[in-house]
Amino acid sequence: MSERKQPPPHGRPAPGTADGRPAAEPVEFYRKREKIYPRAVTGIFARLRVLGVVVLLGLFYGLPWLRWGDRQAVLLDLPERKFHIFGLTFWPQDFFFLAVLLIIAALSLFFFTALAGRLWCGYACPQTVWTEVFLWIERQIEGSRSQQMKLDKGLWSLRKWRLKLAKHAVWIALSLYTGFTFVGYFTPLDELWAGLSSFALGPWELFWIVFYGFATYGNAGWMREQVCLYMCPYARFQSAMFDRNTLIISYDEARGETRGARKRGSDPKSLGLGDCVNCTLCVQVCPTGIDIRDGLQYECIGCAACIDVCDEVMAKVGYPKGLIKYTTQNTLDGVVAHVIRPRTIVYASLLLALCAGLIFAISQRVPLELDIIRDRNALYRTTDRGLTENVYLLKLVNMEDRARDYRITIDGLEQAELIGPETVTLPAGKVLDQVVSVRIDPGFLKTPSSEIRFHLDALDGDISRVESARFLGPVSR
Ligand code: SF4
Ligand code: SF4
Repeated sequence: MSERKQPPPHGRPAPGTADGRPAAEPVEFYRKREKIYPRAVTGIFARLRVLGVVVLLGLFYGLPWLRWGDRQAVLLDLPERKFHIFGLTFWPQDFFFLAVLLIIAALSLFFFTALAGRLWCGYACPQTVWTEVFLWIERQIEGSRSQQMKLDKGLWSLRKWRLKLAKHAVWIALSLYTGFTFVGYFTPLDELWAGLSSFALGPWELFWIVFYGFATYGNAGWMREQVCLYMCPYARFQSAMFDRNTLIISYDEARGETRGARKRGSDPKSLGLGDCVNCTLCVQVCPTGIDIRDGLQYECIGCAACIDVCDEVMAKVGYPKGLIKYTTQNTLDGVVAHVIRPRTIVYASLLLALCAGLIFAISQRVPLELDIIRDRNALYRTTDRGLTENVYLLKLVNMEDRARDYRITIDGLEQAELIGPETVTLPAGKVLDQVVSVRIDPGFLKTPSSEIRFHLDALDGDISRVESARFLGPVSR
């Protein structure tokens, strides 16, 4: 990946100043941002990007409005520490599933990056997706790239005020609605809407709506490519996931050079020219403002806008498409490229195994928890009748959305007797603390510590839990 030329260290004179020539201007380390005006582009990859935007934003804005039974289909209820995802409710005890899901997400990123470069950045990253929408709004209000540049260069007229105000008003409205939707994943949307329409929103809800809205407005409206160039760590370490068989977007230098303008219909070979007509359209459409003809650069987010526009140019001048294209370093060097290679096989196998494991684990998940805490204040007690007694606190968690009746039984010590309720009713989605004790004639104890098992069985028989505990007592010699 080629690096941009760095300025010399601050304060160091440019070469040659020691021999009496005038000192060089001090070099600024802070590079002032020059606004990029990406030109609108059409083509197959532009259509794919629009499809990505529609699907991803459709999911983001639409999911919180879906209902599942009597509640929101996707609700991350932090105060209650429950995540409702369609018909399933995940508790803190299910943190394992979240951990596996995060590992799957990270592995997917590695896999797709090794396979096809910065697919995530170009088509699915929230920064790309929202920036696309904000750019579209900007074009609808201020016009094309050249109209926007002219407007920004011009004096502040009534028209300029009107257009700028309209653009920012639409951006802010969309940003606030984005913040509102984001909070809707954590607070039921109907409650949130009722609070908003009656000006009775809680302070935290208000804070997060404004915060998330502000982040959207700032990142997609103002900072845009700066987020990718200076803030996103992924741009920095992605090259570690690339190899010579990874798909990259590249300019075919051998075919394109020497670049230069020519008359339509002229023979480039006789003019000593390659296929690049030096129209600079590939630079004008680039959302990060780079020139792909300088080689692969970390600033390239892989959006493929330059492919679309260059193909259009090639079609117009009657040359074959693909002067800029998806390719691999090996292909460029004339070596056969391999899509299937050890790295992709390892990533794909791990991904498949983890996804299958996660689906299996979720399908086998029992929405019932039983924790046993032995009374630690006494090893054991002796009752009036001379029986040895241990006391236990049973923590019973019903993770379902309906109340269930359960039977409690024990085994492991043949003659032991359970003192406590035979059946309990667990309310929907609640934890119940139940104290029980176990008694036995000490004559039956063979060791000072024996294992007993508590069984919790649903009365309708479809789910159960078994947990072990220790029973302590004296052993007669
Ligand atoms: S769009 Fe294609 S022809 Fe035009 S400057 Fe870029 S590479 Fe050359
Ligand atoms: S160089 Fe091409 S693919 Fe890379 S960011 Fe610019 S337009 Fe997108």
